[in-house]
Amino acid sequence: MRKCIRCDSVMIEDCGIKVKGAAYGIILTDDENKWWGGRMGEPKVAICPACGEVSIYLEDVDKLKK
Ligand SMILES: [Zn+2]
Repeated sequence: MRKCIRCDSVMIEDCGIKVKGAAYGIILTDDENKWWGGRMGEPKVAICPACGEVSIYLEDVDKLKK
């Protein structure tokens, strides 16, 4: 469960990201120079229904631990 960093409400998790006008999604990487090799996975989005705060997060945090 995620709580809003602004108002402490429970956020709606597991939302996706859609980039207007583009057919591809957003991928986060830990190293810009190896964009395809250092992939950390696709980000997910949580939205606060109370204040509209949008939070982008990674579900698989194991990939962040080195
Ligand atoms: Zn909020």
